Amino acid sequence: MERTRMRWTKYYLPTFKETPSDAEIPSHKLMLRAGLIRKLTAGVYTFLPLGFRVLKKIETIVREEMDRIGCQEVLMPILHPSELYKESGRFQHFGPELFKLHDRRNRLFALGPTHEEVITDMARSELKSYRQLPQCHYQILTKFRDEIRPRFGVMRAREFIMKDAYSFHTSEESLDEIYEKMAGAYRRILDRCGLSNVMVEADAGKIGGDINHEFVVLAQEGESEIFSCSCGYAANDERAESLGRPAEVKEPVLDTPQKIKTPGQKTVEEVTAFLGAKPSQLVKTLLYKTSNKTVAALIGGDRTLSETKFSKIVGDPMIEPLSDEEIFELTGAEVGYSGPVGLPKDTMIIADTLLEEFQGMIVGANETDAHLRGVKMGRDFTPNASANISRARAGDRCPRCEKGTLSVQRGVELGHIFKLGTKYSESMGATYLDDDGKERPFIMGCYGFGVSRTVAAAIEQHHDEKGIIWPSSITPMHVLVLPVNIADAQTRNTAEMLYEDLRGAGFDVLLDDRDLRPGYKFKDADLIGIPLRITLGERNLKKGMIEIYYRREDRSELVRKKDVIHTIQRFYEPDQ
Ligand code: ATP
Ligand code: MG
Repeated sequence: MERTRMRWTKYYLPTFKETPSDAEIPSHKLMLRAGLIRKLTAGVYTFLPLGFRVLKKIETIVREEMDRIGCQEVLMPILHPSELYKESGRFQHFGPELFKLHDRRNRLFALGPTHEEVITDMARSELKSYRQLPQCHYQILTKFRDEIRPRFGVMRAREFIMKDAYSFHTSEESLDEIYEKMAGAYRRILDRCGLSNVMVEADAGKIGGDINHEFVVLAQEGESEIFSCSCGYAANDERAESLGRPAEVKEPVLDTPQKIKTPGQKTVEEVTAFLGAKPSQLVKTLLYKTSNKTVAALIGGDRTLSETKFSKIVGDPMIEPLSDEEIFELTGAEVGYSGPVGLPKDTMIIADTLLEEFQGMIVGANETDAHLRGVKMGRDFTPNASANISRARAGDRCPRCEKGTLSVQRGVELGHIFKLGTKYSESMGATYLDDDGKERPFIMGCYGFGVSRTVAAAIEQHHDEKGIIWPSSITPMHVLVLPVNIADAQTRNTAEMLYEDLRGAGFDVLLDDRDLRPGYKFKDADLIGIPLRITLGERNLKKGMIEIYYRREDRSELVRKKDVIHTIQRFYEPDQ
């Protein structure tokens, strides 16, 4: 790669020290403060020169790893005819997340949120024979999604850069092979970017298919929650199942449910405290509607509902909680007193699998200010289905080995890979001729990776109270040369010399040639987080020595002038 050298006085690197008021998480604050990005409008950002350098380094790593597994780079359009989404059925599914626009003839288009439809359209006219398969194509391109809540800067943007890849196969075995290679490539990308990560089972969301995995970079303030067990089980919060854990106190079953007055007691905490019971004795009844029915979700009082799991069981992605008025209309009671006993017959009841371990239950009585005790499932009400619809919790028993306990970590989802099967090829009529002349739909896989999100995730995982600490492989510059007193001739000359020699030796160099107080320059250096800083001070120089400061370890070392380049080479060797 062509090496760069820059003088700070000429470089557009606007730093500031105040905490930006609209930024919540460290990476967003630091990206603004270190002059990496600027906001145009909600969820839409410019990458400034220093930030763009990081983005390009990540892109290079991604590209190298895709090329290594034989995936071919293409460039597909951003502007998509909306008919394609109607063919695949995703026009509805994406709903308001799809950015739409009309051309001058009033034809409807969408700005690409992902490219399954576009590439399947290409495949159905280009790939005719089994002899042309398998194929794997990728691109690195801007995507558009009108996110409900764009936030955290480039982490959840409405316009962002993704690497997306798609593969076409004649058999499941061939898909499995590419899927494994892709998983390996994702691992290597993240490892090379210096990001500790986990691969977890996940939910297929709007993309579809069954088997899919996410790659999550661990970070305390990440949006994703992942559960894992020492047996190797790992899944994200939308997917993770659990076997719960035995309740300390169980509600006994009574001969018939007993109605108890609970005036003004609505929440689980209020009701159980009022009754002198534990949340594990109570069952919550949460009421939802779909386009054509009402559905009740029953879960333990100490659990939360996973809307993702629930909507999958209900078979409708558009579930919505009932309003207070609708609840009153259905149950005849205010919010807080709903229960499964005596609900209208056409209300579908789905009980969480963990309720199978309950004996009796405390539930709402469908009467304002009243609850029922000693209720028994199967006798007093019968659910239409039992399914895992509650979220896993740290400390739950592992669903796979059934012995270990699940622990929870937070992180940022950077990659998501899917075995799509024939979902798109069937709905869009994309077929090839197999070796006995039969028409068959392609078996497909798709593989997304958030390139711009990686910049933020890297900072989320690598920073301290003073600023960013770039992993050495994606640092925007390798070395910051910081002359303490620019007015001193020897300091200035040495700085110029190093500035030249370091680039010659294959490093990107930034020279802080600003005539500012040293304290100010050091603060900026810590903020922008270049792994190595060469500090040029008069006293050391007189002795022929130069200070190298290691940002991550917060450690300095004095080396002879002639050893500087060698020391820096040693530091960056593993990345070369
Ligand atoms: P999320 O659950 O975070 O919304 P997703 O499941 O919608 O992600 P995919 O459709 O699988 O994401 O997209 C592939 C990758 O693109 C994600 O793993 C993520 O790294 C990136 N990505 C998705 N949405 C955004 C966004 N709004 N801003 C930045 N990057 C994104
Ligand atoms: Mg999304």
